[in-house]
Amino acid sequence: MTNIRTILQRAARDLNISGSPSARLDAELLLMYGLKIDRLQLCTHPERELTDEEVAAFVERVARRSLGEPVAYIIGEKEFWSLCFEVGREVLIPRPETECLVEEVLRFYRPRGEGLRILDIGTGSGAIAVVLARELPAARVVATDISAGALTVARRNALAHGVSDRVDFFQGDLLTAVSGNFDIICSNPPYIPDVPYGLLPAGIRDFEPRGALIAGPDGMDFHRRIIREGVHRLKAGGRIFLEIGEGQRDQVAALFRKEGGYRDIDCRRDYGGTDRVASARRPRQTA
Ligand code: SAM
Ligand code: GLN
Repeated sequence: MTNIRTILQRAARDLNISGSPSARLDAELLLMYGLKIDRLQLCTHPERELTDEEVAAFVERVARRSLGEPVAYIIGEKEFWSLCFEVGREVLIPRPETECLVEEVLRFYRPRGEGLRILDIGTGSGAIAVVLARELPAARVVATDISAGALTVARRNALAHGVSDRVDFFQGDLLTAVSGNFDIICSNPPYIPDVPYGLLPAGIRDFEPRGALIAGPDGMDFHRRIIREGVHRLKAGGRIFLEIGEGQRDQVAALFRKEGGYRDIDCRRDYGGTDRVASARRPRQTA
């Protein structure tokens, strides 16, 4: 027999040895998931005994984690914007940085988003589309992805968070999947250059979908296309918000300028201080 305290200590030690940078937290998340308990119960009942089945299931999850698999894939969920999103190997695990993109959109469009038509390109788990639909309860959202598997997960997340009647999903290549014009176009497209891919942490490189991450020699293939095609799909006065990677701010600003139809080109940093959300506006009247 073993209890919560002992098994956690052992798992955290093993994960630490296998190189996990957040060993204790990982062990806690895996155990809370297996025992279906929250953090409060975990902390207040360290002496709770585990059954043999609970131990076996936990040991198996810890073994997967020690081989580098992200906790979110093992437990099938990840928190984003304080909501629980289902994730699986067909979708990128939503990142905390991406909350900055949502914040930036909401800075312009709160409170209800009456009449707004929003497009989320490359929706993955649906994180951006679902949160915007919840925060702007009078808006309609269209979400696209090239991956059918991702859209299946995104649809389930929209349903779980009560917005499936206001989010429409389409499969296809960037903007070709949808028709009409939008007040807001947003996207966290793939933006990692081909070359450094091999240098990525193993948890990302070996487990997350390559098609969600890789974007040509300079990592800008998707931004280039979305900026070029997006200007024709924004309503006058509409805005575009694109997540970017480290060092891409000047390149993306140059792409907006070169395209011509954009004004108010801007970039905001994430909470780690890295340039993260590029944005621009299509003016009401072009001079
Ligand atoms: N929006 C999600 C988020 O922020 O967590 C996922 C972003 S992930 C970096 C990029 C997404 O773009 C992936 O789900 C991938 O399948 C999708 N994608 C890749 N190429 C695409 C294309 N040509 N057209 C539409 N979506 C594409
Ligand atoms: N932020 C992700 C990472 O570096 C990349 C996401 C993306 O390509 N859009 O893991």
